Order: sequence, then C-alpha cells, then structure tokens
Amino acid sequence: MNKKFKKIAPLLIISLITIFFITSYSIYKNEIKQIKVNIEYELVNKSLNIKEYFQTSEALIYSLKYTIEDKLNIEAFESIMHPAFNTIKYDKKKNLYKIMNFYGINSIDLSTIVGIGNPQEFGKEKIHEINSALHLKSIFNASMEIIPDLKWVYYTSKNDFIYISPNYDFKDDKNLEEQYQNAFWTEAIPKNNPESNLIITDLYKDGAGKGLMTTLSMPIHKNDIFQGIVSIDIGLNTLTHLLPEDVLIGETYLIDEKNQILASNTDFELGDKIFKINKNSIFVPIVANEVNLLLNIKEFDIRKEAFYKSSGKITIIFLLLLISFIALYLRLILTKVQYFANTDPLTKLLNRRAMQREITTLINTSIRYNQKLAFLLIDIDYFKHVNDKYGHQVGDKVLKEISKLFKKNTRNCDVVARYGGEEFLIALSNTDLDNAYILAERIRLHAQRIKIDTYRINLTISIGCAKLKKDDNLFSILKRVDKLLYEAKNNGRNNTVKEEEN
Ligand code: GH3
Ligand code: MG
Ligand code: MG
Repeated sequence: MNKKFKKIAPLLIISLITIFFITSYSIYKNEIKQIKVNIEYELVNKSLNIKEYFQTSEALIYSLKYTIEDKLNIEAFESIMHPAFNTIKYDKKKNLYKIMNFYGINSIDLSTIVGIGNPQEFGKEKIHEINSALHLKSIFNASMEIIPDLKWVYYTSKNDFIYISPNYDFKDDKNLEEQYQNAFWTEAIPKNNPESNLIITDLYKDGAGKGLMTTLSMPIHKNDIFQGIVSIDIGLNTLTHLLPEDVLIGETYLIDEKNQILASNTDFELGDKIFKINKNSIFVPIVANEVNLLLNIKEFDIRKEAFYKSSGKITIIFLLLLISFIALYLRLILTKVQYFANTDPLTKLLNRRAMQREITTLINTSIRYNQKLAFLLIDIDYFKHVNDKYGHQVGDKVLKEISKLFKKNTRNCDVVARYGGEEFLIALSNTDLDNAYILAERIRLHAQRIKIDTYRINLTISIGCAKLKKDDNLFSILKRVDKLLYEAKNNGRNNTVKEEEN
C-alpha cells in the first residue's frame, strides 16, 4: 500500500502540472486571439468618429464648391451685387484691395477678401467673381459652426485674390502671391489634379501661426474652366483628438496614401513616414486612397496584455488543481491510515478490531438473507516450542506462512483475521458445516508441510469448526467455537472438532 502510494504521488503531481500548463497555455492563446479580435473591433468602431469627421468635411467642401460654382455660372448681368462689395478699399502701398464682409452680428463671423491690384482697373468678369465669392459668407460661417476647431476656410482665385475666414491680413502683394506656392494650391490645380479630385494635403506648418494642419482642397470651375480652389484647414490637434486614446494597446496613426503621418497618439516629426508595419498592424480606410487609420501593435504588447488578462483565470485554475491535489493526497493518506488501522502488521491479515466489524456485518447479512455461515478458530499447537526451538524470527515467519495458507484457501468474500498471538479466525460465507470441516482439514494437513528456511517444523494446528445459528451474535459464536477448539486441544491436538448438527 505504501509502495502504491509512493508510485501514485509523483504521477499525480506530473499529471496535475501537465493539466495546469496545458490549460493555462490554451487560456493564454485564446486570450491573445480574443485581444486581436477586440482590438480590430474597437479600432473599426473608433474609426467611425474619424470617418464621420472627414465625411462632414467633404460634404462641407462640396457645398462650398457648388455654392460658388452656382454663383459663378450666373451671367454677370443677372447677378445682384453683394452689399459688402461697396466697402472695397485699396491700399496702394501694399498693392492690396480688401473687402471686410461682416454684416453679421459677430465680428468673429468676419471674412475678408484680399486681392492684388487696383479695383478701379478690374474688368466685369473679375468683379463678377469677387461678387460670387462674397456670397460664400453664410456657408463660411456655417463651416465654422459645423466643424469644431476648423482653422481656416477660404476660396483662392486664380485671379489673385483670396476670400478667407476668419479675417487675415496679408503684409503685401508678395505675401499673398506666396500663398500660391503652398500645397493646398499646387496639389489641387488642374496640372497636378486633372480629375479635379478632393485633395488632402500633407501635414504642414501654417504660415499664419496656427500650428500644424492639413488642408482639404477642391477645384472650382466656371463653365468647365478652372477658376480657383476652395479649401478648409484642419488643425493637428483636432486630428489627434479624433484618434482613439488609451483604450487600445499600440500606436495609432492617421496616415496618407504615401504612409506619411497626419496625426498620431505618439510623438512624431513633421514629414515622418511609417516604415515598419508589423504583422499585427491593422489598417482602416478613412478617406479612400487618401487617409488611413493605422494601429501598429507589437507582438510583445499583445502577449503582455494576454498574460495580464489570463493571469486571473490561471490563478483560479492553479488553486483548483492545488485543492484537487490536496484532496486526492488526503484521500490517499486516509486510505493508508485506514489500512494500517485494520491490518495486522506481521501477517497482513485483518486485526482483531477490523475482524469484529467485518464479521458482525457478515453475520447480519447472512441472517437477513438466510445464508449459511461457518467459522473456524485455529490455534497453532505448541507454538511456544517453535519459538524456543527455532527462535522468535522463525516463529514470525511461521505466522506469515500460515496466514498465506489461510488466504490461499479462502475467497475474497470470506473473512480471515488474526484473532490473537498464534490464533486465527476464519468466517466462511455461504458455507455449511460439512464443507467448512473439509476446508479445515485441508488447511490442517497443508500446515504440516510448512517449511521455514531449511527447517521442517512439523507444524500442527487445532481447529474448532462451528456454524451460524438463528439467534447467534459474534460473542455467542466466539464462545462456541472457542469451546470446540479447546476440545480439539484436549483430544491431543492436530485435529478439527466440528460442532454437533441439530
Ligand atoms: P498450545 O498448543 O496449548 O496452544 O501451546 P502454545 O505454546 O501454542 O500456547 P501458548 O499460549 O502457551 O503460547 C503461545 C505462544 O505464541 C507464546 C508466544 O510467545 C507465541 N507468540 C504469540 N505471538 C507471537 C508472535 O507474534 N511472534 C512469535 N514469534 N511468537 C508469538
Ligand atoms: Mg497455541
Ligand atoms: Mg493460543
């Protein structure tokens, strides 16, 4: 039993550790998968905000385009002069003319036309274009309302004027001319944009000091002839605020079609490009062929997150396995303790205490089911002499051997116990007195042949043989069978005395 336990314990520990590692690993792997799915879901979800912002901006720029094209396409003579046109002022030193279009309540609503040249020399066409541009005021105001943090909204004419909101003062005509070198113009004019697409420029530094920004530009036509560009400027701060914060692991970027960074939740320099796109990176298109949202995640970050997230479950599993191990261990110990409590250490037969319990059970069952039950009380003859002659150790070996003999000649359903020093009790279930006697005699004869080491001991035993009667209990039987054994001893030993049948 002890050996069995020692064999089982490491096996149990190894299996529990294996179960622990396999389960933990599968939880961890599953967590990685879940994290990736969640991140993608969350990113797509968050991208809706950014998409909405760009869609609103696009819608706005189309409104601006159609409003001004609508005005431009009306014949000059049909067009009604805008009231602000009369406030036109010419600064000869700067060679700039200016119209402050602020008949709104608020001076913040102020939008200004600034152009190069003397208005006195303008032809009908140019006056008509300026007049058409002035009609953009309400939609300029609306733009500022609709899109938060819009830096500038402006119409730039190929005829050397800008209608800009809010108000901006150019230093002189050179300063205004320089505007035509900027991306919002160069990238959107027909030469570089023959299909008249909406252009989103790279990030650049605002000349008017409003920081880093990107421009959405759209060409304007009059009767299919290119006339100018309408633009809105979105600040970097606005773009950065649109990006998902904290919730996602990794770095989020808003990049253009050339992988140039427009905004990011990490530090970057103007003009920086994304070179390293790893296998866990996720792209979400924001504006087709123009702007993408990119999430760059390091495998290590996912693993770290997965480890962190699965550690709770893994701890619980560890504790559950530990508890199971302790429970199994205690169960094994209990079995071991029970074994030792019931077993005679020398002969490995049931001890007297266990015998009393087992035989009482057997008696009760046999009475209930009206089954036969026979008892043999066996005592070794002159055992003292065996000890005296061959020594105590040989005596012990005799006890072991004779116990083996008893076990060999009985069944699992029988009870074989060491009753005292060299005295044994056997209960034979479902056995009548005659068959019990036959068995007793067989055992007695076999006992005579027991050899220990090289000694022929000529061991003899005396046996009392009794059967269960109607009103019997353990003590009444023991009393009878003991008497029978006493008779056998008195008959000169080495014989079996069977009780009278009645
Ligand atoms: P009888 O034929 O009348 O039974 O004579 P006996 O010598 O067998 O009976 P007795 O009761 O005088 O002596 C029993 C002996 O059994 C005494 C004791 O030393 C020996 N004995 C009891 N238990 C053990 C044991 O565990 N090992 C050994 N070696 N001897 C034992
Ligand atoms: Mg004896
Ligand atoms: Mg005795």
